[in-house]
Amino acid sequence: MPKAVVVGGGVAGPAVAQLLTRAGWEAPVFEARETPDSFEGLFLNVAVNGRRVLRELGVEERLLSDAHPAPSMAMWSGRGKQLGVVPNGPAGRPADGGVVVRRGWLHDVIREGAENAGVRFEHGRRLVSVDERDGLAVATFADGHVEEADVVIGADGVGSAARAYVAPDVRPTFTGLLGTGGFASVPGLAPTPGLQHFVFGARSFFGYLVRDDGTVYWFANLPADSPDAGDSLTAGEQWIAMLRDLHSDDPAPVPGILASTTTALRGYPIFRLPSVPSWSRGRVVLAGDAVHATSPSAGQGASLALEDAFVLARALRDRKTPEAAFATYEEARRQRAEAVVACAAGIDKQKRVTKSRIGVALRDAMLPMFLRRAGSDARHDWIYDYDVPWEARA
Ligand SMILES: Cc1cc2nc3c(=O)[nH]c(=O)nc-3n(C[C@H](O)[C@H](O)[C@H](O)COP(=O)(O)OP(=O)(O)OC[C@H]3O[C@@H](n4cnc5c(N)ncnc54)[C@H](O)[C@@H]3O)c2cc1C
Repeated sequence: MPKAVVVGGGVAGPAVAQLLTRAGWEAPVFEARETPDSFEGLFLNVAVNGRRVLRELGVEERLLSDAHPAPSMAMWSGRGKQLGVVPNGPAGRPADGGVVVRRGWLHDVIREGAENAGVRFEHGRRLVSVDERDGLAVATFADGHVEEADVVIGADGVGSAARAYVAPDVRPTFTGLLGTGGFASVPGLAPTPGLQHFVFGARSFFGYLVRDDGTVYWFANLPADSPDAGDSLTAGEQWIAMLRDLHSDDPAPVPGILASTTTALRGYPIFRLPSVPSWSRGRVVLAGDAVHATSPSAGQGASLALEDAFVLARALRDRKTPEAAFATYEEARRQRAEAVVACAAGIDKQKRVTKSRIGVALRDAMLPMFLRRAGSDARHDWIYDYDVPWEARA
């Protein structure tokens, strides 16, 4: 039986392991975390292209049982004027809109699906290096454990250790934004069914939704000159104090949400990987954020990772050698992934705070026109319409 060592138990890792198991491979997953953390990370958008893969994995329904459907996005100026409502998904197809889920829930659902399909997980195994010898790929972990296999799949996220072997000179690019967010319960704030709200705040970009049970999911994207700009804020209370100040002039309910937030906050720099020269080297290949991390702005990070898992497993199933499979996989995926990363980078630019009054007035005057057109604009449907049948040969 061919064997793949899968590094990373986030999104791409368990998904590719489950699909490889179905294709007759042994595919254990090695995850750095000691235990799964269901409340780790914030929340994210899963788009219809990602949901198709979850359906194939048999876990879509379970994911949706704790999701907030959000087929529309309402954009607001910093003065409380609605600039427009645009689809979060393909134009004119709200049933194919995105859903928002806790990141930890997405991880749990995909991991449990893989475990039920027979995938073995080893937690507390942090990859430190990858190598090849005697026709095998060799993964070495921080605890000294060594694992040999036909291939190693690096699905270990934006800070990937496997990437040091495949593309040693590549470093993620800082987007100029720090991300943070939390959960709150705000008395009197009504649920926002089908909708997320986004506010071009005076000093920071803010997004929120209110679930049917009243729980508010919110995030902020703050402009920053360097990725370590938030390092001096070591305590969650310092983060919330800074955010309350940054958003104090913004329209309701933004200050109220921040006033009601009691969860511990953490800020993190947002990176992207616009292009990695080669996605594989010999018997080692990368997937997900490890090879094309995107800022959250396009809501596609998890969905792209799921697509990678699908296409990579299919290529390994159908091609005779790892090298041939990796070439097929990269050819199928590179252009699309890089185009989505670039699309998200374009949205990041709009999130940077415009300091001049004229700039703000111009944006608030022009955006409604663009957003009106966006409602029926099918130019981004290529992102959502990606659909590859498992049965078709790679
Ligand atoms: C803290 C955090 C918060 C995020 N929040 C959002 C959000 O709010 N919205 C959004 O759209 N996207 C968010 N993202 C990005 C989104 O989660 C990713 O695009 C998506 O999960 C990509 O899946 P992946 O499998 O490639 O990587 P991940 O889901 O990041 O999984 C990588 C896994 O590899 C493990 N790992 C890392 N290094 C090693 C190692 N050396 N050895 C073994 N295992 C290792 C990690 O613990 C992790 O479980 C966030 C990412 C992070 C890290």
